[in-house]
Amino acid sequence: MTDSNQPPGHSPASMREAVLEHARTIGFDLVGLTPLGPPPDAERFASWLDRGRHGSMGYLERARSVTLDPRSQWPEGKTLLVVGLGHSRDAIELAGGGRIARYAAGRDYHNVAGKMLQRLRRVLVREGLAAPGSAFVDATPILERSHAAAAGIGTASKAANLLEPRFGPWFFLGELILDIDLEPTEHAPRVASCGSCTACIDACPTAAIVAPGEVDARRCISYSTIEHRGLVPHELRERTEGWAFGCDVCSEVCPWGSRAPDLAARFGTRPEFSEDAPEGAVLVSMLTGDAGEDDQDREARHAERWRGSPLRRPRREGLARNAAIALGTRPTERGREGLIAALEGDRSAVVRAAAAWALSHGHGGDQGVRDALDRALDREVDPEAQADMRTSRDRAR
Ligand code: SF4
Repeated sequence: MTDSNQPPGHSPASMREAVLEHARTIGFDLVGLTPLGPPPDAERFASWLDRGRHGSMGYLERARSVTLDPRSQWPEGKTLLVVGLGHSRDAIELAGGGRIARYAAGRDYHNVAGKMLQRLRRVLVREGLAAPGSAFVDATPILERSHAAAAGIGTASKAANLLEPRFGPWFFLGELILDIDLEPTEHAPRVASCGSCTACIDACPTAAIVAPGEVDARRCISYSTIEHRGLVPHELRERTEGWAFGCDVCSEVCPWGSRAPDLAARFGTRPEFSEDAPEGAVLVSMLTGDAGEDDQDREARHAERWRGSPLRRPRREGLARNAAIALGTRPTERGREGLIAALEGDRSAVVRAAAAWALSHGHGGDQGVRDALDRALDREVDPEAQADMRTSRDRAR
């Protein structure tokens, strides 16, 4: 389809309605249209990158020019179809006190919404409403909240997410690039907005919301437990409050999300997060369950175990590190045993260092633990891990 033509039998207005209706019929809760171009928050995003607030997410810097103007990658694109899918549900508490972000309790959004977007693209192509090559935005970063706000899907919040009256901050976004000009959608009459509320800024355990609408990823628990590889700064470990994957604090305190529907059935719940487990057992199994001699085997076991789950993302080392830190802030006897096993036998220096921190933090008064830490320090061959362990041990004494 070329930019100016339209399929027979379609006026621009009927095409617009047909596209939106198909998106709703596929099952998306929120749908909107905005011209494809630089996102309204382009300047702000560039400045955020310039100040290094993306931490080690180098892919954001590498994709800077595409993010600032998606037309550089999709020159034929005219309109961005933005869709939203609610995922509100009750909090996930692991026995023994660990937590994971609610969205991660069941099937991976990328799989669920990705299939829905592919289905939508097929329908639009079949109906002559999109070209066969219409892009489905997945791996390429796009400033989706900024485009979604422009499409009237929600309002930017002080926690840098998007608010919507029905779901509050609890919804995912997805995009499809269309090569036809369609009139943009607008905000619904009832708009969710922060007003004078600062609940998210006040509640953030790590003071990561450094200004209204601006999160310094380097301080954010979500970033440090999902995106960040390697050691986590000590001052963050102490404040992770048991989060082993992601963090929902800023969303949980948002008044707009308090009456969101329970959509747990939509993504399901993995058995380890729905059944009663002994205290600390889930975290210990994240810490030691996929350990082993061979690096590839460990990674393959992790990938297999968390197939179809967002928890696959931090890789084996990242998830074991997170579990160790969570066990340090939520000490249990089972956790102590798991941490000693990781300290003495894990092949990853990052995991050994995290276990040393957790033992010092949560069990530093135990003479047996202190002896194990001294032995681990003598044995440690990785200089960074050794320095980290020494800091952990010395802080605990
Ligand atoms: Fe703070 Fe958690 Fe929100 Fe990150 S996800 S900004 S750590 S409350």
